[in-house]
Amino acid sequence: TAPTLNDPDLFRQQAFIAGAWVDADDGRTIPVDDPATGAIIGHVPDCGAPQARAAIDAAARAQADWKHRPPAERAAILMAWYDLMLEHSEDLARIMTIEQGKILAEALGEVRYAASFFKWFAEEARRIDGAVLAPPARDRRILVLKEPVGVSAAITPWNFPLAMITRKCAPALAAGCSMVIKPSELTPFSALAVARLGERAGVPAGLISIVTGMPEAIGAELTANPVVRKLSFTGSTRVGAILMRQSADTIKRLSLELGGNAPFLVFDDAACDLAVQGAMASKFRNAGQTCICANRVLVQSGIHDRFVAHLLDAVAALRVGSGLDPAATLGPLINDAAVAKVRAHVEDALARGARYASAPLHVDGRFVSPVVLTGVTADMLIAREETFGPVLPVFRFDTEEEAVRLANATPFGLASYFFTGSLDRAWRVGEALEFGMVGLNTGAISMESAPFGGVKQSGLGREGGHPGLDEFLEIKSFHMGGL
Ligand code: ADP
Repeated sequence: TAPTLNDPDLFRQQAFIAGAWVDADDGRTIPVDDPATGAIIGHVPDCGAPQARAAIDAAARAQADWKHRPPAERAAILMAWYDLMLEHSEDLARIMTIEQGKILAEALGEVRYAASFFKWFAEEARRIDGAVLAPPARDRRILVLKEPVGVSAAITPWNFPLAMITRKCAPALAAGCSMVIKPSELTPFSALAVARLGERAGVPAGLISIVTGMPEAIGAELTANPVVRKLSFTGSTRVGAILMRQSADTIKRLSLELGGNAPFLVFDDAACDLAVQGAMASKFRNAGQTCICANRVLVQSGIHDRFVAHLLDAVAALRVGSGLDPAATLGPLINDAAVAKVRAHVEDALARGARYASAPLHVDGRFVSPVVLTGVTADMLIAREETFGPVLPVFRFDTEEEAVRLANATPFGLASYFFTGSLDRAWRVGEALEFGMVGLNTGAISMESAPFGGVKQSGLGREGGHPGLDEFLEIKSFHMGGL
């Protein structure tokens, strides 16, 4: 059951390699299912290393010309791609919902967010400026040139099937690089649809490829191949470490956007409604399956009971259902393993003394009811690992010092949030949190204009903002003598 689309040409069951739509060399395919029903929605080629290599070779050929095109020309193609994404946003959202599960309204939001990277980096492409340094001698001059890294690769996850691709390939193309993309095997159709639109926008053949298939063989080629100069990965810390090891022999540049364990601090002097709104937005987006979801909600004793009471009202208003059902606010989880992890985290917390503040966990297929736990403590699994589901664990704390210590007590450092009405605390806590991103009185921190990324085991590099472009640029010092 393929999705019903206005433009059925966007639903493609072939890989896009070197400018051609192709099957796997050996004809093998991978089925993709709809998390809401478990029904197979289609198949994609299970490409292996030789097809990844073909994509890399084509990317090298295409990049040789692309890097010489004036930035304005590259920008025009990115803008055409942006326009096409918006024009086809309804179809793109439908494909996403059916393969990923998120509700249609969120899928539409992601399409717009994903498209925004094309616009942002089309604009940034015109600002790849170098420098002329103060001369060290009468007859010497030194220039600093910014040059594209070259052929790049991207490996992307299933939770944001479009945005995690555009956030990488928009800056890559803006900088003058080419890119070979391996999307998640769970959500390849969004990737293929956006590639089709890229083709229509005038992206030269081979400049981007989408190599579908199981990750190990393709990942091994993308990391070992010396032609690939840069890898940008979003996914788990476990796989990030594997890819970093595999990239060591060819000394690749790496951008790694890995796991998080976001703390969400609510101080006594916070605006309670704002904090509840922030927690709802941060926790239940994509049914809790984002790397910046509030994973540990730490609430000061004085506001604890009021915050929890308001939170329970908001949680009671959530509706679990198929992403295509307009009444639903929480879709299914991606697969059975995701459901099992949520169940394990809740059971472990209950066994160690946490309590249900909401109705107990209810599981139906991959649909999981939203749950609020109170009395959560640092020794529980849920405190140490990303739950990636609609479970909101509430910890209680007394002092600011204790809250900051608890918040930082994790090997991860991606997103963090805190709510306070006090200016001095805002500054103090904002500086003390050891995370790449901090949200003060807001649960929404993803946007194309701001650098996104983590510290510690949450990764390397930044995506979005101007730094997102630097990830795809090399710096060359050009020394001129005898002048
Ligand atoms: P998640 O926990 O979000 O599923 P993963 O790290 O497992 O994150 O997956 C993110 C991406 O990494 C996906 O595209 C997946 O196919 C890919 N991947 C998983 N294992 C490997 C591997 N050994 N080599 C290369 N890519 C991998």
